[in-house]
Amino acid sequence: MKKLYKKRVSLVRSFLIILFIIIIGIYLINKRENPPIEENIKIESKVVYLTFDADMTPFMKKKLDTGIVSSYYSRELVSYLENEKIPATVFVTGMFAEIYPNLIKEMSKYPYIEVANHTYDHPGFEVPCYGLSVINTDKEKIQEMEKTQKILTTLTGHIPKYFRHPGLCHDNHDDILAQRLGLIVSDDGLTSEDAFDKNPNTIIKAVLNNIHDGSIVIMHLGGPNAPAIDVAIKTIVSKLKDQGYIFKTL
Ligand SMILES: [Zn+2]
Repeated sequence: MKKLYKKRVSLVRSFLIILFIIIIGIYLINKRENPPIEENIKIESKVVYLTFDADMTPFMKKKLDTGIVSSYYSRELVSYLENEKIPATVFVTGMFAEIYPNLIKEMSKYPYIEVANHTYDHPGFEVPCYGLSVINTDKEKIQEMEKTQKILTTLTGHIPKYFRHPGLCHDNHDDILAQRLGLIVSDDGLTSEDAFDKNPNTIIKAVLNNIHDGSIVIMHLGGPNAPAIDVAIKTIVSKLKDQGYIFKTL
């Protein structure tokens, strides 16, 4: 009787050991085939819109004509965007496009660079506007937008979709005027503080400290009015990529 009991205990023990080995085996195989859920979740891409304004006023043009300023854009910045295939929207004034037609044609050939409207000669639409000359009538405002639409359409073969007010100075009525011409106003965004700033770190901090999913970053295309953006942009792009952001045109 005692012997039979011992045999049963031994059988149960063996059974339990085998069951344990099977369970552990199934667990290990399962773990290998299905890694923990955290490993399966990829960081969801966040989107940032990089935008660059290409300003030109009669005063700036005079500086170019007299040789005081050699260029109102940074070749290095444009080449960086083109070579690295960084999606960007460039808001161009008509007067800038007339001075640099080949640059506009060149940028428009890249599918990830979008050319947009930034008036003809960069006047303020509302006062005050950072010392810019200001226009008041609807007629003048419409002319500023329409003239540039024609210039950019001729150069690029595409009708620009987006519009930005010089100095971002606008009211609701100005927005309606642009909308009537079929333009989408893009004035709300994250200002990079790149105007006249010679220190790239200020710009980098202004952007990185305030960035969020969907941010439209407002910058300039370089030149003496934005002397450090061509250096700052490289760090901004690389840090944002590290944070899981991707870039898109508007
Ligand atoms: Zn501007």
